[in-house]
Amino acid sequence: MSPLLKLEGFKLRYGAVEAVRGIDLEIGTGEIVALLGANGAGKSSTMNGIAGLAPVTEGKVYFDGNDITELPSEEIPISGLTLAPEGRRVFGTLTVDDNLRMGAYAVRDNTSIDASRQHVFDLFPILAERHNQYAGTLSGGQQQMLAIGRALMCNPRLLLLDEPSLGLAPRIVEQVFDLISTLRDQGVTIFLVEQNVAGALEIADRAYMMASGQIIREGSAAAMRASDDMSAAYLGEH
Ligand code: ATP
Repeated sequence: MSPLLKLEGFKLRYGAVEAVRGIDLEIGTGEIVALLGANGAGKSSTMNGIAGLAPVTEGKVYFDGNDITELPSEEIPISGLTLAPEGRRVFGTLTVDDNLRMGAYAVRDNTSIDASRQHVFDLFPILAERHNQYAGTLSGGQQQMLAIGRALMCNPRLLLLDEPSLGLAPRIVEQVFDLISTLRDQGVTIFLVEQNVAGALEIADRAYMMASGQIIREGSAAAMRASDDMSAAYLGEH
């Protein structure tokens, strides 16, 4: 089966800064794949480039066999790929409902929007309780849930998640990781950037490790967990 997402010779540069230096990777339908690496390794740039939010300097992005490298960012969710960006970028002065509606901008059919909204509320009952509340009044964890919920409003087949656990209390982090597994069970393929390496490797099938804009290692999550230098560097073991 051909991969759902494929990057070929993917490069991304900001002026003189080469953030991503030619990477190749593939994600199969139904997988959870983690993208790991230290601050500044190029993980967010990779996500933003795939989602059309940063210009890819060289190389190709294929989604479901189609070249989407040059597609404008607002058209990419229509094809079934959405990014929940780092930093819980919800609209604080809009209600939970309005934030979700904005996530569904690419969807014309109201019945489908209602069904997606209900799906989000089933996943995150707290958002249903607070649907009329301004997003800015939600806790950090709730805002993260809303950011993921908003990304789900276009019924993505591939969900890119950039640091979904960042800044959350351990109990909430666990909820977010559980949710990611649930989404995969519901048929959503997941590509996940995480600094919480141990947590990510627990739910992921495979992982890629980036450093200085390149992929320096790839393999099954189990193999990554078992590897000595990964343990020392990222899992706090010696
Ligand atoms: P972090 O976890 O800190 O977000 P990251 O692995 O996601 O790290 P990127 O944010 O992709 O890394 O950054 C990769 C490189 O590109 C870094 O050197 C960073 O300083 C640089 N960079 C990122 N965004 C920009 C930008 N908008 N303009 C210029 N340089 C940038």
